Amino acid sequence: MSKKNKLRIIPLGGLGEVGKNMMAYEFAGEIIVVDAGIMFPENDMLGVDYIIPDFEYLIKRADQVRGLILTHGHEDHIGAIQHFIEHINVPIYATPLTCGLIEAKLLRNKSQNKVQFKTVQAGESSDIGPFKVEYFHVSHSIPDAVSLGITTPAGLVIHMSDFKFDHTPVDGWPTDFAKLAEFATRGVDLLLSDSTNAERAGWTPSESIIGPAFDQVFAEAKGRVIVATFASLISRIQQVADAAQKNGRKMAIAGLSMVDNVKVARKLKYLDIPDDLIVPIEQALTMQDHKVVIMCTGSQGEPSSIVGRLSAGTNRQFALKPSDTVVLSSHPIPGNEESISKTINRLLRRGANVIDDQVAPIHVSGHAAQEEQKLLINLVRPKNFMPIHGELRMLKRHAQLAREVGIAEGNTLVVENGQVVELIGNKIQLGELIPGGYVFVHGESIGDIDRGIMKERGQLARNGIFLVDISVDKDSGKILNEPEVLTRGFVSPEEAQTLLPEVRKRVLQAVNGGGVTNEKDIINTIKSYLHQETRRRPMVLITLSKS
Ligand SMILES: [Zn+2]
Ligand SMILES: [Zn+2]
Repeated sequence: MSKKNKLRIIPLGGLGEVGKNMMAYEFAGEIIVVDAGIMFPENDMLGVDYIIPDFEYLIKRADQVRGLILTHGHEDHIGAIQHFIEHINVPIYATPLTCGLIEAKLLRNKSQNKVQFKTVQAGESSDIGPFKVEYFHVSHSIPDAVSLGITTPAGLVIHMSDFKFDHTPVDGWPTDFAKLAEFATRGVDLLLSDSTNAERAGWTPSESIIGPAFDQVFAEAKGRVIVATFASLISRIQQVADAAQKNGRKMAIAGLSMVDNVKVARKLKYLDIPDDLIVPIEQALTMQDHKVVIMCTGSQGEPSSIVGRLSAGTNRQFALKPSDTVVLSSHPIPGNEESISKTINRLLRRGANVIDDQVAPIHVSGHAAQEEQKLLINLVRPKNFMPIHGELRMLKRHAQLAREVGIAEGNTLVVENGQVVELIGNKIQLGELIPGGYVFVHGESIGDIDRGIMKERGQLARNGIFLVDISVDKDSGKILNEPEVLTRGFVSPEEAQTLLPEVRKRVLQAVNGGGVTNEKDIINTIKSYLHQETRRRPMVLITLSKS
């Protein structure tokens, strides 16, 4: 089989994790990229704002990249775009709402790079280098989401981004089953599909079940209703607006990103909210409580979000009232359970009524569950299958589901980020390994923080720091003055009173006694003494000056 017929599938993000989705397709030296998302840090990634994919592979081949296709406007698919376009300036293919959300985002972040948008509609196609890309509609928790049929001389690949089979979605636009069936009649060589809910049995409920639940909450709430969700969960914003309208409440939106997104979605007619339903937040705060709904971010318990600040009593614009009902309309992203739980407890402590998806059906997933995933495979009947979007255990489970509906084990590959897969002669095989790790973003620093720094931060956070300043005579090597000792986050002031003089004494003895001369040995002397006394291991640093 000649190299000319080989399609390379290059997972750069989203395989082996939930978030920062990015996939590259390479054929005859030309590349298209699907999605450029971010992921939020795990609990042990201290001081990290967010994580973007490592796309070194693409940066090195920037002149071979022909386009970036963004399937929908969620952060785990578009969040890294600003970093992408800094390195790779190619046309961006996306539907009108996705383009609008990206534009608003780049403006908010004051990105200097010019973007060339190629706005596409579901049902259309683009020829990008050797790739023919067909966009088709999928229902999800944001309108205007598409998945892709990608045709090259190596065959037809279906890239299912986030989707569900909702027959009664909020925007009335279900997944394009006819298109999927048409692909099947053409013969699908490889199906890649969203694994987020591969561990959930049954069907994901329709978005339409949320409406009545919201209605009930809005009708029963005595005071204000504060609904928290993701800024990009546009369908949910529509449902809140509908419930507000029905229950005689006005809706205010708090938070920059949500205000922006609502503006864009209304302008492009993806949100149907009458002008007189929306009031500025300043006005809402002067209205009677039972006439108001405030929409904001923070359903994941993020401390910097509005709900996070309300729970901590640090929100500047308005404070929580005991009569407020707070609705957390999302499901915990794996790893966020703890911070959500803490936030709920704080809200309750302030007297608010809190409703999450355990209490009432005010959230449904935007992702297909097992029966939908199996239906997709049966509908498409692909020759090969590759699970994407999910932690390893979700990917494995999804591959198992594929086998249950008749995809042979040899035609399924489970890989994580950085493992190239090749489609050649209707078969898939493993290619080489490339970098596919994390790039941490912290303020203006992008990629400078590595695992080593993260480890140090963990050690500092757990055990604190112990600092010793020593000056020695450069000729005799003896300590001139009493060593200075500083400690933070390690021991209480009382403990320090006994510990610190003893450390000074031991350092003096060690150095002046002649046994210990270099920094490493002095550090070890201090470390072993501190561990012997406290059973803890703080970070020990010394500054050694000779004069
Ligand atoms: Zn999504
Ligand atoms: Zn996603």
